[in-house]
Amino acid sequence: MLSNSLIELDRAHLVHPVSSFRGHEKLGVRVLKSAAGATVTDTTGHQLIDGFAGLWCVNAGYGHDSIVEAAARQMRELPYATAYFDLGNEPAIRLASELADRAPGDLNHVYFTLGGSDAVDSTIRFIRYYWHAKGEPQRDQFISVEQGYHGSTTAGAGLTALPAFHAGFGVPYDWQHRIPSHYAYRNPAGEDAAAIIAASLQALKDKIEAIGPNRVAAFYVEPIQGSGGVLVPPDGWVKAMRELCRSHGILFVADEVITGFGRTGPLFACTDEDIVPDFMTTAKGLTSGYIPMGAVFMADHVYETIADGAGEAAVGHGYTYSAHPVSAAVGLEVLKLYEGGLLENGRRTGARLMAGLRDLKDHPLVGDVRGRGMLAAIELVTDKERKTPLPAAAAPSRRIFDRAWENGLVIRAFGNGVLGYAPPLCCTDSEIDAIVERTLKTLDQTL
Ligand code: PLP
Repeated sequence: MLSNSLIELDRAHLVHPVSSFRGHEKLGVRVLKSAAGATVTDTTGHQLIDGFAGLWCVNAGYGHDSIVEAAARQMRELPYATAYFDLGNEPAIRLASELADRAPGDLNHVYFTLGGSDAVDSTIRFIRYYWHAKGEPQRDQFISVEQGYHGSTTAGAGLTALPAFHAGFGVPYDWQHRIPSHYAYRNPAGEDAAAIIAASLQALKDKIEAIGPNRVAAFYVEPIQGSGGVLVPPDGWVKAMRELCRSHGILFVADEVITGFGRTGPLFACTDEDIVPDFMTTAKGLTSGYIPMGAVFMADHVYETIADGAGEAAVGHGYTYSAHPVSAAVGLEVLKLYEGGLLENGRRTGARLMAGLRDLKDHPLVGDVRGRGMLAAIELVTDKERKTPLPAAAAPSRRIFDRAWENGLVIRAFGNGVLGYAPPLCCTDSEIDAIVERTLKTLDQTL
């Protein structure tokens, strides 16, 4: 049983990320105590299937002794080593090399961060540096996509295009621009793939023209928009946008913080999209959430330009915990698990999850079902014909989240009535079926 004193201590002292401070004070905290496989247990002993892998990150599932042992071994041997000033450590070097081997195309250079937000922020810094080195410092304008999420650092939050991350914070800045999302279910261009791609291409061309073609530094894309509500672009959308950027000499950044490491099937979603970006950002599944780490991948030409531009001078960008040996040791072990069957299991059970959720399409509350692999969402509406969204307030979503919790399922209930799914790749068939059954029960209770 969770003691009242813990609830009170939380209320008094722990500031929760992306939460309503006042709402949280009223509702109190739910505290998880332990976890194994795809199951989490709270402090009351209630067991739930984690349909969201923590925060789309525990891709390998909980309780892998081999990961714990890899971390403990590394902590005993060398718990810390800086990568500053030409120093290094073996796990970080090996992980960078293993990742480069598997990354699309010539993304051969890996810069480690602490998570996804600082990975994105690092790309902003590197991109500015790149254009200075190229002799085009006026290329200082950045474009992203509405409904996108690229973290919440001061600069990255402005590439993020979700209102809660802007209001009151003074972002986006005037060098940050957006084009509309491809969001098929609610696209003014209709749901036809070719029409959506054409509309997005036109929007990006117009935006580039409006900013000034030689002013645009980079364009940021999530292969599937995650926090915006699991918005899957039509096949060919990512490639078309990539090609347009190439033809304008604009750098293309694929933010794979969610989609990386098996979430959509392959190790990286860019593979499915058949593209090689100039930068790729990753985090979450890189260490399966067991320990913080992110990674920025740079294409050869980016690395070479920055290196030539700097010459003998230091490229002044780094964190005390960049290339942390314990995180890297965990990353190496997690990679082994992915390739030892987890990716394959995720692909198989991901197809089962999508099929199960699609079966819910006839439910009176379900307007849309979308996703790929182990990344999915259903969008709830009050009128299917008119696609009437649930009321915009967060309260109905929170009620659905609470019901699902009581039914033994953790999902993500977005404020706009979208329910998100990102289960661990280790799920069994029966766990996938339980996710779908518990969703149906929750929806029935919501009618
Ligand atoms: N980029 C994307 C696409 C994300 O989904 C996230 C987090 O969900 C981030 C960046 C930020 O990562 P982090 O929360 O590790 O800072």
